[in-house]
Amino acid sequence: MFHRTETRPVKVGNVQIGGNDQIVIQSMTTTKTHDVEATVAEINRLAEAGCQIVRVACPDMRAAEAIPNIKKQISIPLVADIHFDYKLALKAIEGGIDKIRINPGNIGRREKVEAVVRAAKEREIPIRIGVNAGSLEKRILDKYGYPTADGMVESALYHIGILEDLDFHDIIVSLKASDVRLAIEAYTKAAAAFRYPLHLGITESGTLFSGTVKSAAGLGAIVSQGIGSTLRVSLSADPVEEVKVARELLKSFGLAANAATLISCPTCGRIEIDLISIANEVEEYISKIQAPIKVSVLGCAVNGPGEAKEADIGIAGARGEGLLFRHGKIIRKIPEKEMVAELKKEIDKLAEEHKRK
Ligand code: SF4
Repeated sequence: MFHRTETRPVKVGNVQIGGNDQIVIQSMTTTKTHDVEATVAEINRLAEAGCQIVRVACPDMRAAEAIPNIKKQISIPLVADIHFDYKLALKAIEGGIDKIRINPGNIGRREKVEAVVRAAKEREIPIRIGVNAGSLEKRILDKYGYPTADGMVESALYHIGILEDLDFHDIIVSLKASDVRLAIEAYTKAAAAFRYPLHLGITESGTLFSGTVKSAAGLGAIVSQGIGSTLRVSLSADPVEEVKVARELLKSFGLAANAATLISCPTCGRIEIDLISIANEVEEYISKIQAPIKVSVLGCAVNGPGEAKEADIGIAGARGEGLLFRHGKIIRKIPEKEMVAELKKEIDKLAEEHKRK
């Protein structure tokens, strides 16, 4: 099986997918792509939240024609999501897109496929093949009876074969399914079958709460095997939430180098402060901190600082006050009312120190 470090490195704009132990965070806009102003605003919100590559739907010529204008106003690589129509792919490539998501086997006549591949090759634009359990080719469904991991890998290999025949190798592949066990099996088998980098996703996973749990279960199992070079968490929610969940997931595996982590206690009868609201406020505050800082928020000082020795900075509740500690050692006492503001200042100081390193 190819670990993500052994996959082929593929460049999407200035971001590398594959060939290293990074997992690049992606999301997709929810705006009409031809509405440039709204699309750019959403992309910039996503980038600020930590999204590294963004995809836009490209269902018609109006959307494809908007790409140059969008590109001018954003700072992260842009991907066009295209189904079937090779003219849209050509227009997107001409407009400066950084990657296209299209299945070559669905484009139609050979000369149309060749035209897209030639244009992508000339501009060094990769192609993502998106296999989806819900839309497998009829021939594969007839063979396997229903969507299976083997059928999904066979579909991926079919599309890969078309591109390889045209000597095109800047390929990224996804094998999405909404069934978690099917997705895990498909990605595991794909990692054994070819060394193109894998774009991970559990599709149609649900709302913010249920989709987060489902994505974490599925993507966590895949990522923990060393599989996957980029991912999108798909939620029926503001796409910024997708990015936040993706970052949190990668942090759990030590794969988000530039993100702050919150350690907060589960609370118990010893609690001395309003820990839940403090933890939420601190979590929101550190979500935009681009430094690998561990922040701890604990309900009491009984086990508090000692339980969070690995934290760079933290507070533990005491009666009417908070204990500020670093790496398990108490550095000073702060009145309860000023506790969170003081903690934020200390977090900022640490983030500055990291920047200077
Ligand atoms: Fe309970 Fe204190 Fe541990 Fe929080 S830190 S779970 S309040 S003992």
